[in-house]
Amino acid sequence: MKGLVDTYNRKIDYIRISVTDRCNLRCIYCMPSEGVREIIHSEILTYEEIIRILSIATQLGIKKVRITGGEPLVRKGLPSLIKSISDIKGIEEISLTTNGVLLKRFAKELKDAGLQRLNISLDSMDPKKYEEITRGNHLSDVWQGIKISEELGFSPIKINMVPIRGFNDDEIKEFAALTFDKPHHIRFIEFMPTGAKDIWSKEKYISTKELKEIISKLGELMPIKNEWGSGPAKNFQLPGAKGVIGFISAISDHFCAGCNRLRLTSDGKLRPCLFSDSEIDLKKAIREGCDDNELQRLLLLGLQIKPEKHHINESDPNAIERPMSAIGG
Ligand code: SAM
Ligand code: SF4
Repeated sequence: MKGLVDTYNRKIDYIRISVTDRCNLRCIYCMPSEGVREIIHSEILTYEEIIRILSIATQLGIKKVRITGGEPLVRKGLPSLIKSISDIKGIEEISLTTNGVLLKRFAKELKDAGLQRLNISLDSMDPKKYEEITRGNHLSDVWQGIKISEELGFSPIKINMVPIRGFNDDEIKEFAALTFDKPHHIRFIEFMPTGAKDIWSKEKYISTKELKEIISKLGELMPIKNEWGSGPAKNFQLPGAKGVIGFISAISDHFCAGCNRLRLTSDGKLRPCLFSDSEIDLKKAIREGCDDNELQRLLLLGLQIKPEKHHINESDPNAIERPMSAIGG
């Protein structure tokens, strides 16, 4: 099998697929309270179309898939998609990013279908604050989902937290301390100027450097080697901890040199970089009847337009056009 290598010599073996732009929450940093304009159903890739694209991408060298959204578990029949993906020859790893609200209902089916890894987004452990951040009242559902996922043997479970000054920064240590008792990975994602653009400000953004200073009050953060699935996270451990603390520093640290991924949006656009609006319309090509060679050519074209690095940083927060929910964060 050939490997996929882009113009800047990065090996690309990972694709993140957004299966829906819809969501059962309205996180303040991701969506406005009224939600975003929903893509009509007929414009969303069908599972058959996703499988066709993925089968060709796998022949080219993609080995790992993450399913995301919007909230992937609001799309009907997600376990059947996971099953079809796990049947594709060459797929080595399937993971899911979810807000966890529906996990207690679907975790077992997902596991049986072949899902290997789970990332659950949780920004506050305080019910009132959780409601303020997500505009939803589902904290206990998320905890139940996490518990059931532990019992089913998903390991490690990764919990994604976006620290925002003035909202949940008082819980940073508490989240980090979860790793003392649980083997979970707690991943702090720097707040990015994507999605609900009016919410982001330099003042609310907390850098990884500051996060480390706060967490170091619990003990020395010792760097550990990244395993697959850590993505751009830099991983650490507190003394005596069972779990891992990861930092995803999209703003303060350019991790683009190590980027190994492509993205497929819910409406069928191949998006080589989260922070660049350059996309290739695979759905249009498929619905116009393109053959597999043409699809392969378009996937390879995606590698050519993958930028060397993004241009979002603290001094130049050029927000991107599409909401995160449509791209798949
Ligand atoms: N709904 C699912 C969830 O929340 O896990 C999957 C989609 S969501 C867009 C994927 C990830 O993007 C979540 O972990 C979320 O916290 C993160 N995210 C969304 N908007 C963000 C922002 N402005 N800054 C940092 N992370 C963000
Ligand atoms: Fe929905 Fe995830 Fe966006 Fe929150 S971060 S609004 S759960 S898509």
